[in-house]
Amino acid sequence: MAKGQISVQTENIFPIIKKFLYSDHEIFLRELVSNAVDATSKLKTLATLGEVKDEIGDTTISISVDKDAKTLTISDKGIGMTEEEVMKYLNQVAFSSAEEFLSKYQNQAQIIGHFGLGFYSAFMVASKVEVITKSYKEPTSAVRWICDGNPEYEIEPHSKEQRGTDIILHIAEDSTEFLEDSRIESLLNKYCKFLPIEIQFGTKTETSYE
Ligand code: ADP
Repeated sequence: MAKGQISVQTENIFPIIKKFLYSDHEIFLRELVSNAVDATSKLKTLATLGEVKDEIGDTTISISVDKDAKTLTISDKGIGMTEEEVMKYLNQVAFSSAEEFLSKYQNQAQIIGHFGLGFYSAFMVASKVEVITKSYKEPTSAVRWICDGNPEYEIEPHSKEQRGTDIILHIAEDSTEFLEDSRIESLLNKYCKFLPIEIQFGTKTETSYE
C-alpha cells in the first residue's frame, strides 16, 4: 500500500467548501453520475474503434444504498482508471480544480449551483470516499483509493475483476438524508433523466434513450 498527500495548499479545504456550498450539497449525485456516464460513453466509443478487447456487455450504472454500512455507491462499467490515472485525476486534477474554483468564485455565490465541482463534490456529503476501479486496459490490476477528507489519501491494489469504477461514499453524520431511497429517487428524477446510459437504483431503471 502507498500513502501520499494530495496537492492542495490549504491544509484543510474540505470544511470550507462544505460550508460554502451548504445549500447545494445534493448536486454531488449529478456530478458523480455524470462522471459514470462519461466513463461509459468513452468505453463505447473505444469499442467502436476496436480498442476494447473484451465484449463490453451490460453497461448499466447502478446506484445502491447500504443503510447498515451508511454507504451510497455509484458503480459503472466504463473505462475505469489505472493506478497512474487515479493518481493523476483524483489526487491532482480534482483537488486542484476545487481549489481553483474556490479562489475564482468565492464572492459569487449565485454561480455555484451552475458550476460542476466534479468528483470533489463527493466530500460535501461523505466523511470518507473510496474509489475502487479497474481500467479496460490490459493487463492492469484494480486499485482502491481512500480519502477521508483531509489531504491525505491511501492507494492500494484491489481484487476487483470487472472493468469499471465503484465510488463508495461513507455518508457523513449530517448528510444521512442521502441514505433514504426516496431522497435518492427524487434526485435521480431531478438531475439524471434523459441520460444516454441506463441507471438503476434498487429495482427501478431510471433513464434511457433506448
Ligand atoms: P471532470 O469530470 O470535470 O473532468 P472530475 O473532478 O469530475 O472532473 O473528474 C476528474 C477525472 O477523473 C475525470 O476527468 C476522469 O478522467 C476521472 N474520473 C472520475 N470519475 C470517473 C469514473 N467513474 N470512471 C473513470 N474515470 C473517472
